[in-house]
Amino acid sequence: MAIRIAIIGHGKIARDQHVPAIAGNGDFELVAVTGPHLDPATPPRAFTSHRALFAEMAGRLDAVAICTPPKVRHDIARDALAAGLHVLLEKPPTATLGEIEHLETLARDAGRTLFTAWHAQHNAAVAAAAEALAGKTVTGLEISWLEDVRKWHPGQGWIWRPGGFGVFDPGINALSIATRILPMPLFVAAATLSYPSNKQAPIAARLDFAGEEGAMRALMDWRFTAGEQWVIRIETTDGGKLELRDGGAMLLIDGAPQPPAGLGEYPSIYARFADLIGAGHSEVDREPLRIVADAFMVGGRELIAPFT
Ligand code: NAP
Repeated sequence: MAIRIAIIGHGKIARDQHVPAIAGNGDFELVAVTGPHLDPATPPRAFTSHRALFAEMAGRLDAVAICTPPKVRHDIARDALAAGLHVLLEKPPTATLGEIEHLETLARDAGRTLFTAWHAQHNAAVAAAAEALAGKTVTGLEISWLEDVRKWHPGQGWIWRPGGFGVFDPGINALSIATRILPMPLFVAAATLSYPSNKQAPIAARLDFAGEEGAMRALMDWRFTAGEQWVIRIETTDGGKLELRDGGAMLLIDGAPQPPAGLGEYPSIYARFADLIGAGHSEVDREPLRIVADAFMVGGRELIAPFT
């Protein structure tokens, strides 16, 4: 029998990616969606709160995909686990490290699957990059994550509020790839976070990572209007050069393009979720969130012109 799943938070990513990925995976059946301002006619069945969903669909629901802004996820996931449901969390999984640690404990106690779905980790070239770097010593890391906030987050007020992550909303995708492929942990040595004077979240960030072998840094900027630049460049002691382009979709090793592999981001996420549920396991990766938290803890704050 298919896993009966509901999407909580029917916004851009739910409509663009989750709905088609669920429709394309025979292991799942989408039975409901929720959102505070949802049209009641939204198929297959709409609820305005997750509590109404859990009460009405008790016994007819197995799992939820939580695609709300991060600040409200912890309460929803806690209620879902208490209702005996498996939980997929969009990235970033929660607004704080304390919340994701708590959910991990609750999932273990409830015997349910908790899955932190870092979509960028499911890109075509990421697993191959991890394989190519295994056992090597990294001497250089340069992350360049540049995009236009007006293009990618039109009208999303939550993203500028506390707990909205600002430029770390896309930047954490780069960190989720870096932590997946690098053969060593990353530690933030210094950071500069640029805040528009009328916003509560940074529009740009520069992170310097600790490392004795060479320069390791990340630059994230939402003011880039010439397309997107989602690139990670890595150098190793053996002289090797590895470059991930297009957010992890394309891999070059010593300049040579490598063949892509895998199902693609969201189909791969739902295939993994089904496997985890079947095996009775959870997959909780906190590392990208830990690095963002560390950047907020050690980072200096630079106030810049207001953003409108
Ligand atoms: P969005 O378009 O603003 O969608 C968020 C949705 O959540 C809205 O429909 C909102 O409803 C709903 N919501 C808010 N509070 C809720 C609650 N308590 N219960 C149920 N629904 C609630 O944002 P988004 O771009 O989809 O991003 C959502 C998450 O996905 C973010 O964490 C983001 O990082 C991640 N993500 C986004 C993208 C992307 O390309 N946009 C890509 C990958 C991952 P109302 O609008 O009616 O308040």
